[in-house]
Amino acid sequence: MSSTPPTQTADAESADDEPNSALLTARRQLERAAAHVDVDAGVVERLKHPTKVQRVSVPLERDDGSVEVFTGYRAQHDDVRGPYKGGLRYHPAVTAEECIGLSMWMTWKCAVMDIPFGGGKGGIAVDPKSLSEAETERLTRRFAEEIRDVVGPKQDVPAPDMGTDAQTMAWFMDAYSMQQGETTPGVVTGKPPVVGGSYGREEAPGRSTAIIAREAIEYDDRDLAETTVAVQGFGSVGANAARLLDDWGATVVAVSDVNGAIYDPDGLDTHAIPTHEEEPEAVLEHDAPETVTNEEILELEVDVLIPAAVGNVITADNADAIEAEIVVEGANGPTTFAADAILEERGVSVIPDILANAGGVTVSYFEWLQDINRRQWSLERVNEELETKMLAAWADVREQVEAKDLTWRDAAYVVALSRIAEAKAVRGLWP
Ligand code: GLU
Repeated sequence: MSSTPPTQTADAESADDEPNSALLTARRQLERAAAHVDVDAGVVERLKHPTKVQRVSVPLERDDGSVEVFTGYRAQHDDVRGPYKGGLRYHPAVTAEECIGLSMWMTWKCAVMDIPFGGGKGGIAVDPKSLSEAETERLTRRFAEEIRDVVGPKQDVPAPDMGTDAQTMAWFMDAYSMQQGETTPGVVTGKPPVVGGSYGREEAPGRSTAIIAREAIEYDDRDLAETTVAVQGFGSVGANAARLLDDWGATVVAVSDVNGAIYDPDGLDTHAIPTHEEEPEAVLEHDAPETVTNEEILELEVDVLIPAAVGNVITADNADAIEAEIVVEGANGPTTFAADAILEERGVSVIPDILANAGGVTVSYFEWLQDINRRQWSLERVNEELETKMLAAWADVREQVEAKDLTWRDAAYVVALSRIAEAKAVRGLWP
């Protein structure tokens, strides 16, 4: 499965008064943040809309010989700072609107990290579990063919997201390259290292989530060794974040997968619990004193909560029950707009997805650099440079938190929006 932050927002029906589609949330967050930046209203207006949304039919010959037609999308939000960048997701709830919202988040994420990319997102409305490997390969190759004109190393660079992985990227890259008549590794990132993928890419969103959690803990004058952590989701984001924080001395007391959570107030051995990649949906098989539900894990008495599963899990319904003092968003969009306001009022620090899980796209940038230079970096170099980028972004956001007394999310948006607005201003609107 995915090596990147989960971004499903299908369960958008929370008790919040308003629907929580990624697009609505992204637009509301943009408006809120714009109030704190000296930015031209026309720029904000332009940023509410994607540049282009490609919608394609993707016919697939099933293994039994029948033909089914799926719908695929590629939303390109903004490219003022560089090529569109963002994942491709295979999930039944994929829609044009959701891709647009998620592509907006990618624009901010790349800007907050100060990497020269814009925002894109796409995918196919399909349940990947219903496909054989051969069907997934055929679907991916045909999808690559259908969106071939709008992607490219200098145009738009897809990557894995929910339901896609390094193998999916290898098929995509192969299909694209065959049509171009030349091997073009830079057309996608998140590939296997043997075909131009970067070492450390798979682990990167979990690693950045752990780095940012560590910084947030330190910022709150807490000792990592005396900090308890709960992690919802034990895929590559949640599992890598949990294991790194465990290695660095924190006490990870609860982790979960789709079936539920295990809880040990004395701390779990995170390395002994199988990740989704190692053995899917096996968290509950690990011996632990208690099991709790995926809703209950969010309300445990812990210092740090890391939602790293799907979107819209912290809503107006449960925001009052969150006991953690720091929430670090490993998933994309786990906190609804209404829940954000409640947590702010309660003094809970929410460190946003566009900063916390941005290690994924940051190492994607490193991968793209390696591809266009035909070089491969060592894992040590990748992790070192990732650490440097994360600390720089953390410092930029922290500066805004302190200077303007903002929430962490607003501060991250201010950093991103200022960079984008400046780029728009110097480039101008033409024709
Ligand atoms: N899908 C990932 C995300 O949500 C990263 C995409 C990329 O690496 O381009 O951040």
